[in-house]
Amino acid sequence: MLAMNYRGPYRVRAAQKPYPEILHPGDAIVRVTRSCICGSDLHLYHGLVPDTRVGMTFGHEFIGVVEEIGSSVQKLTVGDNVIVPFNVACGTCTFCKQGLFGNCHESNSQATAVGGIFGYSHTAGGYDGGQAEFVRVPYADVGPTIIPDWMDHDDAVLLTDVVPTGYQAAEMGGIKTGDTVVVFGAGPVGIMAAKCAWLFGAGRVIVIDHLEYRLDFVRDYAQCEAYNFRSMDDPVLFLKKTTDWFGADVCIDAVGGDASGSALQTITGKKLLLQAGSATALHWAINSVKKGGIVSIVGVYGPTDNLVPIGNVVNKGITIRANQASVKRLLPKLIDHVQAGRLNPKAIITHRVPLEEVADAYHIFSAKLDNCIKPILIPPS
Ligand code: NAD
Ligand code: ZN
Ligand code: ZN
Repeated sequence: MLAMNYRGPYRVRAAQKPYPEILHPGDAIVRVTRSCICGSDLHLYHGLVPDTRVGMTFGHEFIGVVEEIGSSVQKLTVGDNVIVPFNVACGTCTFCKQGLFGNCHESNSQATAVGGIFGYSHTAGGYDGGQAEFVRVPYADVGPTIIPDWMDHDDAVLLTDVVPTGYQAAEMGGIKTGDTVVVFGAGPVGIMAAKCAWLFGAGRVIVIDHLEYRLDFVRDYAQCEAYNFRSMDDPVLFLKKTTDWFGADVCIDAVGGDASGSALQTITGKKLLLQAGSATALHWAINSVKKGGIVSIVGVYGPTDNLVPIGNVVNKGITIRANQASVKRLLPKLIDHVQAGRLNPKAIITHRVPLEEVADAYHIFSAKLDNCIKPILIPPS
């Protein structure tokens, strides 16, 4: 079968790989009909995530048709169309039972906090991902969710990650009616976080990025304010000024530790000069949230140690909440929001690329070319 294949930092290609096998009675094999490239894949692509092995297939955002099921699978039938959450979760461990599917204890034997994630290095369990024609889906009775008949499959594929992640970012922010919410990052996740902030009662939503085309998009899509930090001397000062010097009630980090940060630091002044891959947006979030406010982090940090201004966290009495999204927990309410028209995920899809051209898709998304917001990969039919 055809699958994306990682060759090393900034090098991926489409290659032939063996058809996946059922390894456990609870597994299913899914024939992928659409997969996405995510900002999280860029951390792998940029070589920032430990133990990303050559030959691996990435892809944690995919939907498809159930092709085969293991002998113990009860809830799926061959031919079902399914949304597959990006978390590989057992459903029965102490964390899964609390709805913390992103922190499953069984799906990742590594001694790290993260649970299993499809196509996300051996740090996250070593599972092959869905940027392929077929994929093995463990714990098939836990994650996969039938796509409702009425749902557009372009919406469905975005329910595997970016919609739940944006929603959980807003949820973790504990937004109260009338709150001012600042979202750092106008990528797919930040766009969804801004959109979802209104569902929690925000009174004002501000998005910060430096890519004008994304700022234009989010302004219109999420009906929010959007500003370019390249046009500011100091984003923290700007945000303080516009909030009567109190700061925002809630700040969301939808950026993470990305190598693309290296280009940003030189233009943001000495005070903000930080190392490539370090937490620029997180600094801004901590320093521009009000005293007693909440910083919600969904941005992913490949290396586990990053410099953060912890002194300011203590002095301002900030609450920091962070996690991988728990997709399965959120799916029922997000499906309702899509059906009711309160969320329109597919509007963020800008590129539809044959899986054979996966290398181009990664390059375009990574370099933010051609006004790219969200690329999806279509396997050969
Ligand atoms: P993306 O790369 O498309 O978007 C990131 C955006 O941040 C870009 O538009 C970039 O210009 C902007 N940016 C860079 N530095 C900035 C700064 N200092 N301030 C403000 N904006 C800045 O990625 P995405 O798909 O939107 O994902 C965003 C983050 O969310 C990534 O770190 C990704 O790994 C993470 N993520 C987390 C989860 C989760 O479950 N927690 C799920 C999906 C993605
Ligand atoms: Zn993702
Ligand atoms: Zn579990």
